Amino acid sequence: MVAVDGDVQASSAAPYSESPFDDPINLAFNVDELVEGLRIAVARGDWLNVAFAASGILQAIDDAAAGTSSMPGRMATSATKGSSRVGRWVFAVLRLWRSVHPGRRRRWEIARVRQLLVAIGIDAAARVGELRTGEPREEGDIDVLVSKLRQYVEHLPEAWRHATTRIPSCFRSFDQHPADLDALAERFSRDVGDLTRPIVVAGVRTSGSYLAPFLAAGLQRLGHSDVALISVRSDQPLSSDDAHVLRRYAARNAKVLVTDDPPSSGYALASVGRSLESYGIPEASVHLALALFSDESSLPSSLAGYTATVLPFADWNIHDRLSPKALGDVVEELLHPVVVKDCIVFPLSKDGGRSHQSARLALTVEDRYGVHDLTLLVEGVGLGYFGDHDRAVSERLGSTPPDVIGVRDGLLFREWLPADAIKTPSVDDVVDYIERRSSAFREPNDRSLDMAGSQPVWEVASEQIARVYGRFWPLARLLFVDRLVKTLVRADRLAVPDGAMQAERWFTIDGDVRKVDVSTRTFGNLDLQTFDPAYDAVAFAVDHSDDHESVRREFSRRIETLSNEKWLLYELVRLWDDHRLHVIDSYESANGKGEALRRYLSNVLMYDIEPSVVGPLVALDVDGVIESEVFGFKAPSPSSVLAIRALVQHGYRPVVVSGRCVDDVRQLVSKFRMTAGVAEYGSALVLPDGTDASLLSGAQEEMLAALRGRLRRADNVRVDERYRHIVRASSLHGGNAVSLDSDVVASVLTPDFEIYDGVLQTDIVVSGVNKGRGARQLMEMLGDHQLALAVGDTVADIPLLQCADKRGVPAHASADVQQHANVKTKQPYQAGLLEIVSSFLGHEAGSCATCAAPVMSDQTKAVLALLRTTESSRPAVGVRTLRAMFAARKVNRSSR
Ligand SMILES: [Zn+2]
Repeated sequence: MVAVDGDVQASSAAPYSESPFDDPINLAFNVDELVEGLRIAVARGDWLNVAFAASGILQAIDDAAAGTSSMPGRMATSATKGSSRVGRWVFAVLRLWRSVHPGRRRRWEIARVRQLLVAIGIDAAARVGELRTGEPREEGDIDVLVSKLRQYVEHLPEAWRHATTRIPSCFRSFDQHPADLDALAERFSRDVGDLTRPIVVAGVRTSGSYLAPFLAAGLQRLGHSDVALISVRSDQPLSSDDAHVLRRYAARNAKVLVTDDPPSSGYALASVGRSLESYGIPEASVHLALALFSDESSLPSSLAGYTATVLPFADWNIHDRLSPKALGDVVEELLHPVVVKDCIVFPLSKDGGRSHQSARLALTVEDRYGVHDLTLLVEGVGLGYFGDHDRAVSERLGSTPPDVIGVRDGLLFREWLPADAIKTPSVDDVVDYIERRSSAFREPNDRSLDMAGSQPVWEVASEQIARVYGRFWPLARLLFVDRLVKTLVRADRLAVPDGAMQAERWFTIDGDVRKVDVSTRTFGNLDLQTFDPAYDAVAFAVDHSDDHESVRREFSRRIETLSNEKWLLYELVRLWDDHRLHVIDSYESANGKGEALRRYLSNVLMYDIEPSVVGPLVALDVDGVIESEVFGFKAPSPSSVLAIRALVQHGYRPVVVSGRCVDDVRQLVSKFRMTAGVAEYGSALVLPDGTDASLLSGAQEEMLAALRGRLRRADNVRVDERYRHIVRASSLHGGNAVSLDSDVVASVLTPDFEIYDGVLQTDIVVSGVNKGRGARQLMEMLGDHQLALAVGDTVADIPLLQCADKRGVPAHASADVQQHANVKTKQPYQAGLLEIVSSFLGHEAGSCATCAAPVMSDQTKAVLALLRTTESSRPAVGVRTLRAMFAARKVNRSSR
């Protein structure tokens, strides 16, 4: 173990480390760093890392040259999702433009660098193979190649030398091994037979770039005399050098061997296959060489047109490395002097398949203390510097992660922690851990900002918040949202974060807090790169803490101020991630995002006011009035919160009257400083002290309980247990919640109930219960008998409107609801509510000293302006967008 003296140790300049690969904490290397790593790895004969570094440099240069991460490049990539032809066209134009751009006329230099990298990559891959198979090899001229490479790289544009390389899933997040590529080469060679036919190995960026040199070296060793190597991407044309190579080989009837990660849908690979035709390669000459995560050798249907050589999962080399004999030998070597008498391997199940293998090892060992049992955990961590990252992180963190015994050939051996010691950590423990990481893994700059197109955290945040623009979100990102979000998430204290903060990864043993998976998620195949320690804090709070405020306070106190804006953005990203990984379903994700917006708007617009104790009552419906579906989930908007603020400040007592559950109504009441509420269509009340009361009879509650029980037992139906005085249920279609299927409704519908269908759910309410009745019972409890104003937008709100003196209906409501209104509006939804409240108060809400918005930061102003862009009628969107862009510009400028 390396001793850690607790405090700052900048990982980018770790003491005495000669090579960037000696202590690889930050795997987001740039080209210059990889060239240095490559040079030292050659000197040390560390051929695996030489091959990886050469592949990484080639990938980074090719992506930089193609403009993959540039804004037009990313636009082209999203256009490609519709048609790859459009994407390639845009890239072709982009490259043309870049080639005439001054300072970029270095085509011959780039071509030379690329040739050198290909030669070095294949040479190093061949040496890796020879070391493994024990075949000797003549010493080549790799030193000469490397010194030329260093010389030429110095002439590349600065931006390219600082370009960040992407990390290949195959050798970092999956257990692929050079031996697997040898196996593929052997199978292919057996199928084809002809050693003289020219072969072009085409690696699909990113993973294919790292796999291809091993495949090419394997083919050469088998006697294939003419093997070339090119780099491809599904949405881009080839580089001009590669296009030249390919056309030359096409004329000689070459086979093109396309390789990449194990495919999931196969669409990207199919698109690569099609694109090769435009270089003169017929479909019959395209051949796939792929490892698979399944044990069957069938490929996804999208790849059915191609011949293929595959390596089913059962044939991967990882199983040899995980055999009891192999593991016992490694343990003897790592724990020397010790004799392994027995080794039993218990594979640990992995969900999803596309990840590393791991196993518990039950060993009987003999050492100088005698014969005893020893339990270890072995897990795949990736090869070369990708796998060594896990060792380096654990060692630098000291005692919190399990003790690492060593890493051998892509497997990490560590102390076993018993499952019964899993315990959710306290907020203190979590912030303590984040603080330790942010000291130990400090980074000077945020390389995730350059990773556009690879789904870093800021990019997903930008996409989430840009969705106020509906399907025009890519345009909004391009216009101003990307830039604003990058500013909003800026952190002064940067470090390599954990990324895997789930409670089940925390243990308490003898009073000490321990954490596993301290290095798997960051730099992994699931993207979401960030260097902001705050992301870990938000991620933990979203998954495991009801008390977001105390996490935020502790983090701000001990590490760095965590703004409301950053919290909101990270919360949206975390929920997006949890939904994508099936930790939560679409329904839970929508609820979580709605809650995130409510928390944010409350924190920035209501923090300075208290609810009214006396005053006339105003009843507000929630769906369509306080909240509506703007981002694909229901959330309040700045307008509705400002309207509520104006009512409270002018001495009114707003109450919620809604179909939402008691918990939602209680949350809305407390977040927005309202007085009380009617929940579940008038079935229950939320009182000013926060308690709730049912308005149903015992018999009615029993009838609902029986219905709920029947639906719980039905297939593919999910009952929302938060609704206790009505039944809210959804049908599940492929994991997504929708309103109940009609046959299910027909089977439960009796005259005792009324049905309200929503998009995600169906509500079943006891007949005779309605919002008007609920509102009157609430008024009675609050000592009032009239509503000064009621606002609603659906037929269910008509009984409520009928209890009020002034009746407001936003413009989007249907005519049969509109006819009950006596306060007219032009605007729909929340903007309509703001208009109704302004008309009711006799002045624009927020315009007088009493109801003015509270003091807020420029950052808050910019986010509120963004949220307001699309909430009113369409013609106003342009003006509001300009306003939001100005607010964003102010933030960007002041943060410089
Ligand atoms: Zn006012």
